[in-house]
Amino acid sequence: MIYLDYAATTPMMDEVIEAMLPYQRQFFGNPSSVYGAGREAKKGLEEAREKVATSIGALPSEIVFTAGGTEADNLALKGAVARLDGRRKHIVTASTEHHAVLHTAEWLERQGFRVTFLPVDRDGLLDVEALESALSPDTILVSVMLANNEVGTVQPLAQIIRTVRQHSRALVHTDAVQALGKIKLDVEDLGVDLAAFSAHKLGGPKGVGALYVRRKTPVEPIAHGGGQERGLRSGTPNVAGIVGFGIAAEISAKEIDYQAERLSAMRDRLQSAIVERIPDVEVNAGGAPRVPGTVSVCIRGVEGESLLLLLDSKGIAASSGSACASGSLDPSHVLLAMGVPPELAHGSLRLSLGRNSQEQDVDAAVEALDQTVERLRSIAPRFGGSS
Ligand code: PLP
Repeated sequence: MIYLDYAATTPMMDEVIEAMLPYQRQFFGNPSSVYGAGREAKKGLEEAREKVATSIGALPSEIVFTAGGTEADNLALKGAVARLDGRRKHIVTASTEHHAVLHTAEWLERQGFRVTFLPVDRDGLLDVEALESALSPDTILVSVMLANNEVGTVQPLAQIIRTVRQHSRALVHTDAVQALGKIKLDVEDLGVDLAAFSAHKLGGPKGVGALYVRRKTPVEPIAHGGGQERGLRSGTPNVAGIVGFGIAAEISAKEIDYQAERLSAMRDRLQSAIVERIPDVEVNAGGAPRVPGTVSVCIRGVEGESLLLLLDSKGIAASSGSACASGSLDPSHVLLAMGVPPELAHGSLRLSLGRNSQEQDVDAAVEALDQTVERLRSIAPRFGGSS
């Protein structure tokens, strides 16, 4: 298999698997227990907290481990609005957010909050003027993702946060799930209050994530129980998974410059080859700063799902956009928000490279894509086919 779907998930690094194993075997204790196996588990948990914190420029006490990025986003949005004074009722977010944020915001809307879904431009960049005019004394929370999962656009978050601070008292959350391990990120420099992360996007295990909660930021828990994670996330933590997250964060941080350069160059070559070889292809977000390794295109006259199935039959694993929304044949909400016409958005393809990607994967992908598109177009009426 040629794996070109690192934005959906990544294979675990060998070092991560090795580091996790002792916590499945001898150090299986509950980190709240006082005896040896529990103390070892607690030590592993706290070491991982330090590693994750260091990788984002935070203090260990600002990290709340969760069962993934979705839970971290839910805790950020629901937890922040629950804790604040109760009089402010306005939330601002972007129309291209991941569903973990969008659907949570929509749920909060049904609970009586007012939500502004901000527009983006053709490259997926947030309209900062629209943000400025949306902000009011009533705004309680602004949630803008750092990097988009479908097209890779990196938002000018520091500038966005400055605008929020100038015009409101709102807290700022960022979904940084697609940014960690791909672009350098420092929560202090960004000036963000809350940030969500997920281990499986950077070579760690699935079902493990974290919410950065800047010191003194008021957040109410959404899961109540034994009071773990400073009361913000009750439940016995997934120690082995968290240990794996720590190692993945540490290794990714060490390799970030090397991988960013390598994957950007490979991505650019992949993008140019697709555009040169295949007629009628539009690159999405090509004019914006993007995470290395991700390219999203729309291929006219081709239906995304058929394309993916044919690519799979050639051993290529790719995606039409968000894996989380797959199974749905609706065009991507991200592309529609960027102004891509629905008929074109139906032909979307996201290729995302990662740590194990090699040059020959790019060549094989372009070759397979060229053949597959030609075949699909030959049976599409508008492209000369008979049915
Ligand atoms: N946010 C973004 C931007 C993502 O890409 C994803 C995963 O696809 C998530 C949140 C959800 O993370 P998880 O799969 O860990 O729940």
